[in-house]
Amino acid sequence: MSSQYPHNVLSEAVKRTIDSLREKIKEGENIEINEEKILEEVKNLLKIQNKFSLNPLINATGVVIHTNLGRSLLPQEAIEQVVKIASHYSNLEYDLESGERGKRYVHIIDALKRIVKAESAIVVNNNAGAVFLCLNTLAKGREVVVSRGELVEIGGSFRIPDVMKNSGAFLREVGTTNKTHLHDYERAINENTALILKVHQSNFRIIGFTKETNIEELVPLGKKYGIPIMVDLGSGCFIDLKKYGLIHEPTVQEVLLKGADVVTFSGDKLLGGAQAGFIVGRAELVEKISKNPLMRALRVDKMTLAALEATLRLYIDEKKAIMKIPTLRMILENPAHIKKRANKISRLLRKEGIPTKVKEDISMPGGGSLPEVGVKTFVVTINPKIVPQEFAKKLRLGEQPVIVRIKDDLIVLDARTIQEDEIPFLIKALKKAYYDDN
Ligand SMILES: *Cc1c(COP(=O)(O)O)cnc(C)c1O
Repeated sequence: MSSQYPHNVLSEAVKRTIDSLREKIKEGENIEINEEKILEEVKNLLKIQNKFSLNPLINATGVVIHTNLGRSLLPQEAIEQVVKIASHYSNLEYDLESGERGKRYVHIIDALKRIVKAESAIVVNNNAGAVFLCLNTLAKGREVVVSRGELVEIGGSFRIPDVMKNSGAFLREVGTTNKTHLHDYERAINENTALILKVHQSNFRIIGFTKETNIEELVPLGKKYGIPIMVDLGSGCFIDLKKYGLIHEPTVQEVLLKGADVVTFSGDKLLGGAQAGFIVGRAELVEKISKNPLMRALRVDKMTLAALEATLRLYIDEKKAIMKIPTLRMILENPAHIKKRANKISRLLRKEGIPTKVKEDISMPGGGSLPEVGVKTFVVTINPKIVPQEFAKKLRLGEQPVIVRIKDDLIVLDARTIQEDEIPFLIKALKKAYYDDN
């Protein structure tokens, strides 16, 4: 042990162990104390301390864009680029042509211009930051018109009315929860109106009698009064999902083409890259936003930029994007492929004496990003010998944590989000949880 740990770490662990044993004796616990026992406890403590807090895990939920589990897995190309940029100096903010200070955002503008045909673009820490920065720059002290049907809360802490308040802009709600007409927007416009904002209803749907005023209708209104149209798109989708059998999700290109002046979206939802918030659109507005002093507080790290540039480049060839960006690949994966993986997992578990079934089921791949979108998948079910909630807890607390679904008192492993190279670890974790009875 003394060769494995520095002296101060060791002596601290011994001290803490003895203190905790003393405490237990004081509380009247009847424990046997000997050198072996103390050594054992010290070893356990050191092992716990040595473990990272942030660890990889196996996502068997079928939710591809799972915010609590880290949202998107990066494409291999992005990972390699991050490693390269992180281990060397780079031209992050250095113009090689002039030998002078450059801009950190130039590295993603080229790819973005090619993919979404935006006039200009910048990127900040996340989409919440992007929305905040746009409102603070373009509408501070003035009014922003938003439909009552779009005053969304995302992930508990991002609520449009609160972001608005903190940005210094005033929310001007129009219409009703289910219907907002063009004349509702027009009536709200006055000399203090700075912006018309449309928010994509990312994590919910209003059904029944509804009327949403779409971007095509709002653009002429904005032009008539000289008010920019901003769209918070949320997901940052670059490809037409309908072509691949999913529901239509508005793409960034399409919203810009319809005439939106500023569009914001996340880097790690459907886009499938690193955590970031993009602001794209009319050069004059993006320029103004980029000069906001708060930009510095929201700026992105070089590793993020490296990952984003590599991810964005993959979109130049759509086929490549779908194959190489894990988020897209998993969402669009052919059910027959998923079934193959489920069968493989099932076979390996049976070999270990664990009874399983492979069944057709539905994944909700988008989490909050594509609500109500269920796609056909294949799952492996296990009937554990203990309460399924207890079994699921064992799986969470194992050496290699596994997160599962529980349905009809069965443990459900959705093969959609299980990575090929994780399968041996998955089997090991399930074996341990299944046979370990304490
Ligand atoms: C997800 C989302 C956000 C927040 O984006 P983050 O990147 O998580 O900060 C904001 N607006 C909409 C519409 C979203 O869907």
